[in-house]
Amino acid sequence: MNKLDTTLVTSALKKAGFSVTANVKEADVVLINTCSVREHAEQRVLSHLGHLKHIKKSRPDMIVGVIGCMAQRLGDKLLEHEAVNIVCGPTQIPQIADLLKQAFEKNEKRLAITEKILQKTSEMQNQALETFESAHGIEDKYIPSQAFVRAMRGCNNFCTYCIVPYVRGPEVCRPPEAIIEQIKRLASIGIKQVTLLGQAVNSYKYKKDGRTWSLADLLDAASDIHGIEWLRFVTSCPSEEFFDEIMQVMADSPKVCKYLHMPAQSGSDKILSAMNRHYSAVSYLELLNRARAAVPRIAIAGDFIVGFPGETEDDFQATVDLLKTARYRNSFIFKYSPRPGTTADKRLQDTVPAEVKQKRIVELLAAQEKISDELSRDFLDKEVKVLVEGLSKKSHRNITGSPDNPQLVGRTATDYIVVFNGPMSLAGRFAKVKIIKTSPLTLFGELI
Ligand code: SAM
Ligand code: SF4
Repeated sequence: MNKLDTTLVTSALKKAGFSVTANVKEADVVLINTCSVREHAEQRVLSHLGHLKHIKKSRPDMIVGVIGCMAQRLGDKLLEHEAVNIVCGPTQIPQIADLLKQAFEKNEKRLAITEKILQKTSEMQNQALETFESAHGIEDKYIPSQAFVRAMRGCNNFCTYCIVPYVRGPEVCRPPEAIIEQIKRLASIGIKQVTLLGQAVNSYKYKKDGRTWSLADLLDAASDIHGIEWLRFVTSCPSEEFFDEIMQVMADSPKVCKYLHMPAQSGSDKILSAMNRHYSAVSYLELLNRARAAVPRIAIAGDFIVGFPGETEDDFQATVDLLKTARYRNSFIFKYSPRPGTTADKRLQDTVPAEVKQKRIVELLAAQEKISDELSRDFLDKEVKVLVEGLSKKSHRNITGSPDNPQLVGRTATDYIVVFNGPMSLAGRFAKVKIIKTSPLTLFGELI
């Protein structure tokens, strides 16, 4: 979601005459796109701002803007920071070029956030976001040949730990014709993989001409677009609604990647209920069974929070059991971080001591690593098709490169990271790789 917003803002500012520099010290404008999901992410932004305050001593004309969720959450408190000139929430990003212009011309601080974030977004705001999205959602792709397309904004689920509904506002599904049109335009400029985005993207629903469009319908329609070869969607919130239809389209369409990211968060029904997640461990695992029955070899990823208020050792062991039964390809595991304003923060005490959270995260990560390692080993000596992203950022041992045969990284349809040597001209294209070595999260191979 944040990467997409960064892409949209970059494209809008380029069209307004700005250009991107990698050197902060020579920038006229520094924009920080922020996340509020965990406290740690916000602390990092504050430390960046401290650094920028220092730079601004010798560059007082530099404009610093904070955009995104933290801007919406902290509003004028953030504007009080000595380094900050602009604070702009996620709903206000269409105004970013104007805000910058005003900041330059009038040398005044500017605040643009939604006052009553929990209220339904106005038609005017929706229209502005829609226009912004279709004008700037086409260029400036983050990775060659790949693009993100928002299916829905906001979230109505109010999981008790989560800040998202308070910073991104209520759920709004984009019209299917706008989404399909955007994907067609992306295909026409050479995009091969599109990822549909939404906080609970599986609950996408849009009523039009007496018919209700679901995510399955969107994937089906997008599968017909010439040039698009892989379609993905994230994130799914466990729910019966449309589940079988979505799995069916994944089974039927060769373009829909056989990958499901569906966070469980916990394996304890008591904790799931305290989190306001509307499923039990058993019903969650039943969904996974149905997914695997409909789509054999589907890769499934999960998210977990350890140390939620009231989580006992037994609750935690139920989470370990669920993770082992689910046999995820990988899991994103977080320590509970109380977020101001959320129901959990207001009503529940952060009872689990830091060292217990730490012990639990280490144990859960180890259990996942073992499963990931076993699943990865299945790929040894097999051929995989990858969409090449570009140069591998990490330099891996045992793979030596040369300037015309550097170390590249790509991903399989099931989201496995594959590292191999090949020409840079492969970036943005599909390649076949034979796997010669595996690790829990990365496969290593040779170009075929
Ligand atoms: N919408 C997605 C969903 O419902 O699964 C995920 C949204 S959230 C940005 C990504 C992940 O962050 C969640 O799945 C959860 O595991 C984690 N998360 C959210 N709030 C958190 C908190 N207060 N403390 C720790 N982790 C949190
Ligand atoms: Fe947060 Fe729950 Fe919405 Fe995901 S579904 S964004 S965890 S409130």
